Amino acid sequence: MVGAGGLGCPAALYLAASGVGHLTLADADKVDLTNLQRQILYRSGDIGAVKVEAARAALSALNPDVEYELIEKRIDEKSVEPLVRTSDVVLDCSDNFATRHAVNRACARHRRPLVAGAAMRFDAQLMVFDLRKPDSPCYACLFPEDAQVEEVQCSVMGVFAPLTGAIGALQAMEAIKLLAGAGESLSGKLLLLDAKSADLRTVAVRRDASCAVCGALQAVR
Ligand SMILES: [Zn+2]
Repeated sequence: MVGAGGLGCPAALYLAASGVGHLTLADADKVDLTNLQRQILYRSGDIGAVKVEAARAALSALNPDVEYELIEKRIDEKSVEPLVRTSDVVLDCSDNFATRHAVNRACARHRRPLVAGAAMRFDAQLMVFDLRKPDSPCYACLFPEDAQVEEVQCSVMGVFAPLTGAIGALQAMEAIKLLAGAGESLSGKLLLLDAKSADLRTVAVRRDASCAVCGALQAVR
């Protein structure tokens, strides 16, 4: 799990409660007062603590039988490699495009399923890319790496707290389905949740043959 914030906290609680065998948490931040509105693993007493350590304490209290691995650094192109290679499912709960693209590239290279969530203000998205399948789109098929995007973060723009809870829980749901081989994953679809109108819809996402990430890999397969 990349990011132990608004999305990662609820997702981690459900994964730990479900008894996943091994949970790797990567986050470089410390707990801040402004996090507590949505980052439900942390308490007032955790302010100033290293997030992944406070997360492990809360998760261990819930389920001590899960093996927790803590990565207290920002995930980049290099550090993401071994983490993705040794994981069965990757959850992207990060808050910036550089991390999202680095995680996506590693998942495409190692063909690992990626469950990506995003939430901003009253809008949220959930995506699953089951990169074990050759026809699966990747994150860059939807959001090309060279696209001009305006980087806005929850810490700046704000986010409706229960919305991060909903998307984080859905990320855990899709991850557990992928691990257990249960049902049909959201792979190939983008789920959009508009909290203001309570509108939930999914749109199909196709693999982009000219995608710089998975298209290039496809060519050498
Ligand atoms: Zn792609």
